[in-house]
Amino acid sequence: MMTMVIGLTGGIGSGKTTVANLFGDYGIDIIDADIIAREVVEPSTVGLNAIVGKLGADILLTDGTLDRSKLRDAIFNEQQLKDWLNGLLHPLIREKMLSNISKATSPYCLLVVPLMVENNLQTMTHRLLVVDVDESVQIDRTQARDNVAPEHVKKILMAQASRQNRNAAADDIISNNGNSAELKNKVAELHQKYIKMSHLY
Ligand code: ADP
Repeated sequence: MMTMVIGLTGGIGSGKTTVANLFGDYGIDIIDADIIAREVVEPSTVGLNAIVGKLGADILLTDGTLDRSKLRDAIFNEQQLKDWLNGLLHPLIREKMLSNISKATSPYCLLVVPLMVENNLQTMTHRLLVVDVDESVQIDRTQARDNVAPEHVKKILMAQASRQNRNAAADDIISNNGNSAELKNKVAELHQKYIKMSHLY
């Protein structure tokens, strides 16, 4: 049976992880793109073998895992190499997402992708839920969580889809300017709505 897939996205520090955890409290299966992106380059995967084939074993740390900061440096300003890497990893990530979705057993599942709209991955979902916050809140919360300067957060914001574009792609928007209790109530409401909708799938 096909499970209804709810895509979850939002800008950095909007509250995606917090919202996903609240759905997780209801026993909803969560498929997290960030985790999958790491899994597809674990030792002895097709992904990591291809990277070593292209860049040599120097791209590995002594324990045989991928040296991410070295890879970041290697692709910096190297558009061709960046395209090659995306061409390798994106299909592997998509394949693993689909495989995990097919294994989901909850009435609906959540596919959490930070750059969902940027990579047009909402096509893999039945509905898109966007966590939306005011930019000032987003900057404050990210700063507090990651202990970084506001300029650093602003730079990341600039590289992500605009709030307007993300919200335009949404079927549901959860506003997270309020406190944790308000967020919890909003998730409870959406959960009821999705449970009802899931019978249609
Ligand atoms: P994302 O996964 O979108 O980057 P997080 O879920 O990590 O965002 O939230 C960013 C930070 O803001 C975290 O430290 C989180 O605990 C905090 N946070 C999220 N929602 C709220 C809220 N409604 N009130 C206060 N803090 C919040």
